[in-house]
Amino acid sequence: MNGTDFLIISPFINDCPNCGNKLVGNGEGMLEVENNMVKRSCKCGFKFEYDVNNGTSKKKIMHAIGEALKQM
Ligand SMILES: [Zn+2]
Repeated sequence: MNGTDFLIISPFINDCPNCGNKLVGNGEGMLEVENNMVKRSCKCGFKFEYDVNNGTSKKKIMHAIGEALKQM
């Protein structure tokens, strides 16, 4: 993943989209980048994984976050 892709996605997931928790680590949540995958989870149960190869348009990212929220 290039830095630009991450910069596009990170504003959507820095704060947990479900509960607004900004914290990661210490059991609060996790934000991880692995190859092309961005992973964000939170102690509230939110869990998001996104492959940037699917595209980094705002619409696609918002849709993926919406799907993650539905699955909670
Ligand atoms: Zn949360």
